[in-house]
Amino acid sequence: MKKCRAVIVGHSHYDHACDAPFFAKKTGATFLGSSSSLHLTNAAKLDLIQTKNTDQMTSPFILGDQKISFIKSLHGPALFGKIPYPGEIDKDLFPPIAASKYRAGGTSIVEINSRETTIWHIGSAGYLSKTLKNKKCDILLLTVVGIQNIDDYIESLVLKTNAKVVIPIHFDNMFTALGNKTTLMPFFKIKKVIAKLEMTGRKVIIPKALAPLKF
Ligand SMILES: [Zn+2]
Repeated sequence: MKKCRAVIVGHSHYDHACDAPFFAKKTGATFLGSSSSLHLTNAAKLDLIQTKNTDQMTSPFILGDQKISFIKSLHGPALFGKIPYPGEIDKDLFPPIAASKYRAGGTSIVEINSRETTIWHIGSAGYLSKTLKNKKCDILLLTVVGIQNIDDYIESLVLKTNAKVVIPIHFDNMFTALGNKTTLMPFFKIKKVIAKLEMTGRKVIIPKALAPLKF
């Protein structure tokens, strides 16, 4: 197993957080997550030295010459027009447990600033306009499944960030077992979304892991 320095979780839904503490344990990484996400760390026997509560961080987490910050965000109404599993996780969870127990908790955009380059990871199909005022990024990893309207999203988020590169993420089927072949999220028009992103003139890069999918 390769060395990993930080495992970063932007919200505590099952598809983002359920195995993250175990991965941190296995690699010796620091686990950075919200108060809700930290309720998942006892099952992996992570101690306080190995965890950072991102709801309470007042300054960036420094990792070599990289600064990791958390911009308060929102979860989008990604499931039939509603936020899936809202609320907090208020007690320690020990898997296996139902997906519905993984409440969203505090939701953040993860900002990684490395020398001259700023990268944002938006994993929640949502954002909070007031926390993005005067903020810019160069590279945007953008969850696309669950966004309500790609035109609005481009207009009010993608263009305002000034990102030169957009990497669409989170459009693989997350409702299937890990051992199964990776497939596209059913009923999601990824081709249309990519075409709209390309129309902005930004460089659109499909992540390597998702590139073999036919769309
Ligand atoms: Zn989510």
